[in-house]
Order: sequence, then C-alpha cells, then structure tokens
Amino acid sequence: MLCFLYDLKIRETTLQDELNTDLSILESHMDGVLDRVKTNSRTFRRFQDFEVRLLNLNSLGEMMRHVLADAKNFFDLDTVGFCLIDEKGEITEYLENDGFYLKNNKELKIIEDAEILQERFGFSMHPYLGSYSEEKCAEFFLHTEQKPVSVAIIPLTRRGRYLGAMSLGSRHAERFEETMATDFVNHMASVVSVCLENNLNFETLRRTSLIDTLTGVNNRRFLEQRLGEEIDRAQRNLEPLSCFFLDIDFFKAVNDTYGHQAGDQVLSAIAGAIKGQLRNNDVLARYGGEEFVALLTNISDAKAQDIAERIRKTIRNSAVEYNDETINVTISIGTSTYLPGAERTSVSQDVAENLVNSADKALYEAKHAGRNRVVSGKAVVDVEATVRNLG
Ligand code: GH3
Ligand code: MG
Ligand code: MG
Repeated sequence: MLCFLYDLKIRETTLQDELNTDLSILESHMDGVLDRVKTNSRTFRRFQDFEVRLLNLNSLGEMMRHVLADAKNFFDLDTVGFCLIDEKGEITEYLENDGFYLKNNKELKIIEDAEILQERFGFSMHPYLGSYSEEKCAEFFLHTEQKPVSVAIIPLTRRGRYLGAMSLGSRHAERFEETMATDFVNHMASVVSVCLENNLNFETLRRTSLIDTLTGVNNRRFLEQRLGEEIDRAQRNLEPLSCFFLDIDFFKAVNDTYGHQAGDQVLSAIAGAIKGQLRNNDVLARYGGEEFVALLTNISDAKAQDIAERIRKTIRNSAVEYNDETINVTISIGTSTYLPGAERTSVSQDVAENLVNSADKALYEAKHAGRNRVVSGKAVVDVEATVRNLG
C-alpha cells in the first residue's frame, strides 16, 4: 500500500514538472507572439500615418520631400531613393517650380525612359527583395556611398506602365529577404504610384489650362478668375487694387522685319522683363497677342505709376538677341486703380470691367500720344449706395 502511494506521489511530481515546463514554453511562445503583434501593429500604424500624410499632399515637390525624408524615419531605413521617368522634362520643371532642385536632392534620379526598369523587372513588374548586389542593385543606389546590405526595389506602375521605382535599403541583412511576403511593399508602391500620377495630372492640367504656353505667364482665363478674387479682397480689406494694360509698340513691324519666330522670342522676353519688375504675389497675364495685363495689390496710385514707369524703362533699355540680330522694342502702358469705399456697394464684375476698361482707355491715349509712355486712367470707385438703389 505504502509502495503504491509512493509511486503515485512520484508520478504526480513528474506530471507537475512536465506541466510547468509546458507552461513556461507556452508563456515564452506567447511572449514572442505578443512581441510580434506589437511590432506589427506599430509598423502598421506608422505605415497608416505615412500614407495619410502622402494622400494629403498637394504637389509633386511636397510629395517627394515627404517620401524621401520621412520614409526613412517612418520605416527605420538607412536609405531611400527614387527614380522617375520624365520623357518630356516636365517633372523636372514642375519640381523646380516647387522649389525642389535635383542638384540638392541626389536621392531622386530622373530617367528618360523605362529601359533600366524593364531590364530589372521585365514585364512582371514585381518588386525585388533581398541582399544587395552590385549587378542587380547599383543603378538604384547611386545616391549613397554606404551601400545597404538588404534592399527592396519596388517598381511604381500605373495602368501597366512604369512611372519609376522606389529603392529602400537597410544595413541589416534580415530586413529584406527573398522569401518575405511582398504585400506590404506592393501596397506602398500602389499608394505612392496613385499619388504620383494624381499630382502629375493635376500639375499638367493646372499648367495647360491657366498658363500661356509661349510666354509661361498666366493666360486670360486665369486673369478673369483672379480679378474677381482680388476685387473681393480689396473690398474686404479696403485696399487699392491697380491694373496695368501693357501693349508692345509696333510689334507687327518686329514680325515683318525679323520673322514670326523672332517675334515669339521677343514676346517671351518682354513677359519675363515685366514679371521681373513685379512682386511674387502680383498677377501677370497675357491678355492676347502682344498685350499683357498686370494686377498689383495694395499699393497707392503714385507707387503704381512708379512701377509702370520702371517696367517701361527696363524694356526700352534692354534688347533681345536673335540670330545675330539685336531687336529693340518699347512698350506703352495704361494704368487704373480701384479704390474701394467703406460700404460694399459695387458688384465685383462691374468693378472688374471698369478697372480693365479704364486701363485700356489710358493705353489708347498712350499710343496716341506717341507710344513708349505710361498714362494714368481714371480711378475706379465704388458706386454710391443710393445711386445703385435708384438704378
Ligand atoms: P501698336 O504700337 O499700335 O500696338 O502696333 P502693333 O504693331 O504692336 O499692333 P498691331 O495690333 O497692328 O499688331 C500686333 C501684332 O502682334 C500682329 C500680330 O501678328 C502679332 N502677334 C500677335 N500674337 C503673336 C504671337 O503669338 N507671336 C508673334 N510673333 N506675333 C504675334
Ligand atoms: Mg495690341
Ligand atoms: Mg502693339
């Protein structure tokens, strides 16, 4: 009996030990799973933040800044690079207009066509995850001297067409491995590609619909939009708004003497010269042919005259070189100023019409008085409330 009880005790202890061992294995396994869940949810949250910021950016420059600077921190990478296909040089221009210069941002490489991407990814367009090798990866990591140990090179595509590629690098070998699932990087590539395409389309649309292609300044459509906004602002803040109507003198003779192409070059140079004399927030638009309109906010009529005079002199004193020829032109300018009254009585559209007409009339006088001069037109004031009510 005693022997049996002893035996039972031994078995109970062994069972207890086994249970304890199983329990501690399970506990450590659970710890590992929990750690992985925590890491994954942290990564997921960081990725979501990254994505939300990306979707809220409004220009290509902002997007590039975000992806290049923040992706490294968000995903704890050692290097992030980008290459973009820019067949017509438009992307470079959009970025530079946005203050993003390629010479200061070596992580972004502009390529002319999809050749290196096709060589690397073929038609599969699948990302490459794995260890860094000169042969497979060098092209995508030219921006960094310290070559990474493991990399993810992710093609950016839309509608079966390459837009470029993103290259992520880490000094840890286990960061990107060939056997890893690619869902995460594929998702990121899709989001980046959609944002890229969106920003490019938006930029192209904005530029082609509101910018004059020959001179690069805004077109008449843009002016019509802005005129209303500027008049509303002037009324709100009780600030003057000046308008210049500018017309190149005897421009037909430039075309007749030097040819239409020379004329185009002169037009473009004159637009640049006028713009150079205005502030960044002033508006300059090509109104049509060889005529321009400028809107200058919050300056006195006297100051507006000074600026118009400065533009006239700058153009008179400069020349355009075209095929060994030196072409000199002058410009005539009519000016007008809107002086809003304390009571908001005038309709913006009426003010806009009066402002442009007054400057146009003054321009006509400048032409008749001999050209190459500035004439100030009648100030445009708000209609008295009582007069309007009677009308
Ligand atoms: P004025 O001093 O009275 O303004 O004389 P003008 O010769 O400048 O004026 P006119 O209206 O007689 O001629 C304008 C010329 O501008 C005629 C037209 O061929 C030229 N022009 C209009 N648009 C363009 C353009 O985009 N390129 C070129 N090269 N010429 C243009
Ligand atoms: Mg004209
Ligand atoms: Mg003219």
